[in-house]
Amino acid sequence: MKNGYLDEHGRNILTSLSKEGVFPSPYNFVAYNCPPTDGYVIHDSTLREGEQTPGVIFTIGDKKKIAEKLDAVGIQQIETGFPVASEKQRKGVKALVNMDLDTEIFCFARAKHEDIDAVAETGADGIIISFSISEHHRRHKFHGMTKEEYLNRLDDTISYAEKYGLFIVYTAEDSTRENDLDFLKKAFKKAEEAGANRARIADTLGCINPSGIAYLVRETKSVLDIPLEVHCHNDMGLALANSLAAVEAGASTISATVNGLGERSGVTPTEEVIAALHVIFGIKTFDMSQLTELSRFVESITGVRTAPNKPVTGENACTHCSGIHQHGILMNPTTYEVYPPELVGQKRRVYIDELCGSHGILYVAEKKLGMNISRDTARKVISKIKRAYLEEDRQSAYTLTELEKLILEAQSAEAGGTAAVP
Ligand code: ZN
Repeated sequence: MKNGYLDEHGRNILTSLSKEGVFPSPYNFVAYNCPPTDGYVIHDSTLREGEQTPGVIFTIGDKKKIAEKLDAVGIQQIETGFPVASEKQRKGVKALVNMDLDTEIFCFARAKHEDIDAVAETGADGIIISFSISEHHRRHKFHGMTKEEYLNRLDDTISYAEKYGLFIVYTAEDSTRENDLDFLKKAFKKAEEAGANRARIADTLGCINPSGIAYLVRETKSVLDIPLEVHCHNDMGLALANSLAAVEAGASTISATVNGLGERSGVTPTEEVIAALHVIFGIKTFDMSQLTELSRFVESITGVRTAPNKPVTGENACTHCSGIHQHGILMNPTTYEVYPPELVGQKRRVYIDELCGSHGILYVAEKKLGMNISRDTARKVISKIKRAYLEEDRQSAYTLTELEKLILEAQSAEAGGTAAVP
């Protein structure tokens, strides 16, 4: 069989993706690393971790609007606040509980009874119990707490939350820097035995690499019956790669925030991980068509600007600049687009500047200006554009209005019998 490195599962995924116009690398689907295509949960923490972005404070109204949009994408769980922290946090969570969304409402808590009481009082569906495990944290934050003391308090805390009937996620904060792997596994197992419904590996400082987290996920999973989640910070720009490596290794829940908001450099971006799961692994659980709107909505509410070259939802993510690429797109968009822009709610754009070619002019004339122009006209327009950059030191791209004017000038010169555009 051709492409012998693919098994039937991999071939089926590629076929199914191709029907949507999605053409990723086939090497994503080699038999030895292809994860199942269903059973994944996105645990979105925009409203909790995202609020730890410097300068971001959500009003309760903001939280409701964002929750609605997350729900519409099909995100199954949202982490909505830290109830013990303030009356406003508690009110915000309760407002979301009362919205009757499909998404489940979770809250953040430390390993303290008062935090758990505050979560239960909101009527939330689930609780994240964050309890630092690394030696750095136990020694400095918890005044030298021993491993035995840690396990005892963990047991007590999870058992206490269990009485409330909450869905319990145990987060071993700073898991990736706890160097005693046996202790780490013992803690996760202890939480499971005490009633935790999911275990969460937290790369709190964003300091692990993809192979490191894959190893940790496999090792942790080997002792657990409950599902495993990862919460990856982005300090080294690896949050998305680490989340995908964790999925390959068997994690089934990914913690993320819209636009990657969060403490310091933030965490795995929700919209990017959803698109990557779809395009890289054929996991089609979520409605991708609303991702761009979601990202831009959160950008407008928070005032935290995203970069134009941000993957998936950035302004340039589906924009083609070079003449070579524009020519390819005109022949067939799959030449330079791994997925159709509409799949993520984007629009294809072709940028007209010094690097553009006549095919770019033909494309924009037809698709954006509704003008059918000859190749000769396009060549005349592009030569005028290139002269402007050479002779007039122009630095900006051409707007549609400017381009239309150039085309009309070229056509009128042609009609008047003049061969060249002045
Ligand atoms: Zn975090």
